[in-house]
Amino acid sequence: MVEAKVAEQTCLEIAASVASGRRTAESVVAEALARMEATASLGAFVHVDGVRALADARAVDARVAAGERLPLAGVPVAVKDNLCTEGLETSCASKMLGGFVATYEATAVSRLRAAGAVVIGKTNMDEFAMGSSGETSVFGRALNPWDTERVPGGSSSGSAVAVSSRAVLASLGSDTGGSIRQPASFCGVVGFKPTYGRISRRGLVAFASSLDQIGPFTTDVADAALLFSVMAGQDGGDMTTSDAPVPALDELLHAPAPLRVGVPKEYLAEGLNPEVRARLDAALDALKAEGAEIVEVSLPHSKYAVATYYILASAEASSNLARFDGVRYGHRDGDATNLIDTYRRTRTFGFGAEVRRRIMLGTFVLSAGYYDAYYQRAQKVRSVFVREFEAAFRQCDVLLTPTAPTAAFKFGEHGDDPLTMYLADIYTIPANLAGLPAMSVPAGLTSDGLPVGVQLLAAPFAEKSLFGAALALERRLGKMEAPPAASGEKV
Ligand code: GLN
Repeated sequence: MVEAKVAEQTCLEIAASVASGRRTAESVVAEALARMEATASLGAFVHVDGVRALADARAVDARVAAGERLPLAGVPVAVKDNLCTEGLETSCASKMLGGFVATYEATAVSRLRAAGAVVIGKTNMDEFAMGSSGETSVFGRALNPWDTERVPGGSSSGSAVAVSSRAVLASLGSDTGGSIRQPASFCGVVGFKPTYGRISRRGLVAFASSLDQIGPFTTDVADAALLFSVMAGQDGGDMTTSDAPVPALDELLHAPAPLRVGVPKEYLAEGLNPEVRARLDAALDALKAEGAEIVEVSLPHSKYAVATYYILASAEASSNLARFDGVRYGHRDGDATNLIDTYRRTRTFGFGAEVRRRIMLGTFVLSAGYYDAYYQRAQKVRSVFVREFEAAFRQCDVLLTPTAPTAAFKFGEHGDDPLTMYLADIYTIPANLAGLPAMSVPAGLTSDGLPVGVQLLAAPFAEKSLFGAALALERRLGKMEAPPAASGEKV
């Protein structure tokens, strides 16, 4: 029997064929590397070591031959460049960490490898995960495979492009305010941010520790469940991981469709882009057809989410990024003559404009005299969001919202105004503030042929409800096709 091309399969199918000996992990990885090469102009990958990936694949083949049962046998995965990987550079797309090779591997990545996955490269991103378009990367931009004049979204730009273009069928991103879900929506793939504390952040270069979560990009919902079930669970290396039992893959794949789907009325207010509205309505109809009752809920403080996030995320970032001072590791300016000069020159050169902006904002809101007015107040507003979501989830099993206010926008569209870019996360940020699991699921195309995702949210640790709803949606709407450009040899 001739096996289908890797690019046309799912992770579940690849793992099954490698585990049963129908094909080798080495041949799968070789095919993925060739596909990566053919789509190189999209700029998804920033560090690749093909020789090492093939050697890792042969090691997986040996484990399969020895009788190990590997749920991800031979599945090639791409990893965002802010996740530490042994033997492969981790630069956060920043000059500050240029050439840095971590001495240990992120727990999420180690768990994928232990399950038989093969890391085939590190992906492009906004510098230190700050951005919504991929444009702040020191490596230059990654292109949206659906329309290369448009952004793929961010900050996990390369991880979304790698899956959308089918160089790989799974990748990892990090999501602090939407960085998995928004690029997933723009690129027509599934993007999943688990409950805060589900997946260990050990080995993830911290942006805002109370908001960051690692999660997968995949071509369908079942593959997202597969990667989640492998990565989730308590880890001694991250004290914020929860000991709550992780649902087994089978439970996730057979989770029932939701009975009650809540729609926050504030999200449907005037001003919602009509193309996005049309896809949201299609998703609502799909869930209704699956038997769900649609209920209106209210999240009255939603309009404060973006402001709250940019105070808290910047405050945490200014503290987390203080370690990049030219003394311990990373870039160090060689011409400085004293300590202060070392800090100043190192950090001025090492960080790009957006990262410096966040550090300055964060330092400001944490400084004496402003701490109470901004940081502490934002913390209080954050607890209001938690309570509002608790109330909403008493009325429904999942919430359905847009993922992003628009489909993918053009490069440079937000020009020099960072504030308009910040609004790209208006629908995704609340899940991070409240620690909720949330997923962007493709919901069709705009009249211009650009993909649009819708977002599902569930109560903390209610991933089963989330997957039940996502599978129901996918069943009705159909799986999103690969972008037209991704089907050819060259893009
Ligand atoms: N776009 C948001 C920001 O720039 C979210 C980033 C993220 O989730 N890492 O902060």
